[in-house]
Amino acid sequence: DSLFQNVPSAPDPPIYATTVAYNKDPCPNKLHLGIGVYRTEDGKCHTLNVVRRVERTLANDLSADKEYLPITGMPEFNKLSAELIFSSGSSAIQESRVTTVQCVSGCGSLRLGAELLAKHYPQQVVYLPEPTYGNHPNLLSAAGLTLKTYRYYDLKTHGLDFQGLMEDLGSALTGAIVLFHASGHNPTGVDPTCEQWEQIRRLVRLRGLFPFFDCAYQGLVSGNLDADAQSIRMFACDGGECLVAQSYSKNMGLYGERIGSLSIVCKTADVARRVESQLRLIIGPFYSNPPIHGAAIVTAILKDRELYKEWTTELKAMSDRFFRVRHQLYDALCKRGTPGDWSHIIKQVGMYTFTGLNEDQIDFLTEEHHVYMSSDGRISFGGLSSKAVPYLADAIHDAVS
Ligand code: PMP
Repeated sequence: DSLFQNVPSAPDPPIYATTVAYNKDPCPNKLHLGIGVYRTEDGKCHTLNVVRRVERTLANDLSADKEYLPITGMPEFNKLSAELIFSSGSSAIQESRVTTVQCVSGCGSLRLGAELLAKHYPQQVVYLPEPTYGNHPNLLSAAGLTLKTYRYYDLKTHGLDFQGLMEDLGSALTGAIVLFHASGHNPTGVDPTCEQWEQIRRLVRLRGLFPFFDCAYQGLVSGNLDADAQSIRMFACDGGECLVAQSYSKNMGLYGERIGSLSIVCKTADVARRVESQLRLIIGPFYSNPPIHGAAIVTAILKDRELYKEWTTELKAMSDRFFRVRHQLYDALCKRGTPGDWSHIIKQVGMYTFTGLNEDQIDFLTEEHHVYMSSDGRISFGGLSSKAVPYLADAIHDAVS
């Protein structure tokens, strides 16, 4: 008998189950709209040209070796990543109040941030938007934090429940941690406006709440890297403290490279140094030090003017495609006279739309039309090309009529 004889089998995470079902489906028209990956017209994961170019250079660079990185990663990567989020003119950076460490992508950054808070922050409760990215609860509770939610999405308007959000943060436990999506909220595609962010910021500071930003779509929401980090910058330049988890999975298409960062904006340079020393203590017994390749790619792009420009051009093209396909889907539903108001599709932003389709309709879409998506009704525009829009609109029309 195996020593693991009594180990029970755990269910597949929903997104994997959807992918498995999709892969098994022989229908040539099948669509996978369930996962946040930017695909080409033929359904392949898109690799950016600038990334291919950098990889060729790296392969030929005989001076590059595979020596272990420091525990906190590649110093140049960390510096450039902080400047990308906070801007190079950021007073927090200039005053050395920011510590940034290389992490295993967005998820690794969120988990490391959660571990730091669980060890060194007095209030162990974190508020998450309702709904939020499916892995947030796992990542934060695994570190030992207690989860609560704040109102975010208004089912009736398919927009932001700003009043509910302000009420819930207004009555949140003193000092509680609050998780915010910097921009391109997953799964709803609904973001606060700049004015609303300013009100949120004031409330957060007034109540002594601790902001923890998740920045997984910088540049893919508006097409502009600065605009998509605006919410974070408002908090970073008010003198207060915050945490930022950053991912290059989507905006550089580096999904499987697992490259991101965690930044902590502190009150003083001395605190930032001490916090960094504690991050080393957490990372050491976890994976010792992070991998090289993804960090080398990102660093090469961020430090070279020409490559950076090429990247921003490609990024803009990706965000333009989201915008275009979003409008094409909306127009196609209007043209078909599909029952219901679909204007939220074009009001929402970024990689996703929260369609409002219910579980029965989603099952129908999968069974009758080979359209795979998450059970909450979220569609990823990463998996939708213009040429597939009529097929999807017909399917949705059929599902709701
Ligand atoms: N945060 C959000 C909001 C996300 O949508 C994702 C990926 N879907 C992540 C974090 C983490 O992604 P990764 O670990 O691949 O960077």
